[in-house]
Amino acid sequence: MQPQQEAFDYFKTLEWSKKKDLLSATISITDINASIHNHDFEICGFAQQQPNGMFSFEMVNKGNSKEGRTPAQCTTLVNYPVVWHTHPAVSKIYPSLVDVLKVIKYSSTHTSFIFTQFGFWRLHCPGGYAQLIIGVPQGTHENRLNVTNTDPLTLKIKGFLDEFYRKTGGGRTVTQEAVEYLTTSLNTEINNGFGVGDFQIQWQPLDTEANYFL
Ligand SMILES: [Zn+2]
Repeated sequence: MQPQQEAFDYFKTLEWSKKKDLLSATISITDINASIHNHDFEICGFAQQQPNGMFSFEMVNKGNSKEGRTPAQCTTLVNYPVVWHTHPAVSKIYPSLVDVLKVIKYSSTHTSFIFTQFGFWRLHCPGGYAQLIIGVPQGTHENRLNVTNTDPLTLKIKGFLDEFYRKTGGGRTVTQEAVEYLTTSLNTEINNGFGVGDFQIQWQPLDTEANYFL
């Protein structure tokens, strides 16, 4: 067995609080933004909402560097209630299909922040809707993320993301029109067409960060 696999297996047996202590380091929004501009890899972790409603961030992992067109997805190893990750400046700014499905499929993860060079996305879905996704096996983390791309909801979401890509000349920038198209399409179609119910995606430009984060 690889030492890394051994360490991961051991890690999986630990209590949540122990996992958190082992892995995480608090990171400021300034440092998250610096990583977006200076790195060609994603960083990720979980967030904790403070009594005043604002979020603080713990970083638990970094993804591999960009190879070809997109950096490898950063994984937090365990499913925290509130997760975050970056899309570096060298990458596209909109959520991936896996990013959108993540909050829908995992009942244990209800909120996801995606930080980009122009602002951040907030995806929220409080229920556990895994059953709605046809053809996605329950089981390991990897299995559940390995979407088949053939169920109607997945195809619908993929269509909206592809259209955002076209509207923004490759997904490297934002326009008000493209953002409104994507958020309205996802918020309307996922909720009305598929019975997911309370899925929500919002875009916040960079200058509104101070309202959310410590
Ligand atoms: Zn992403």
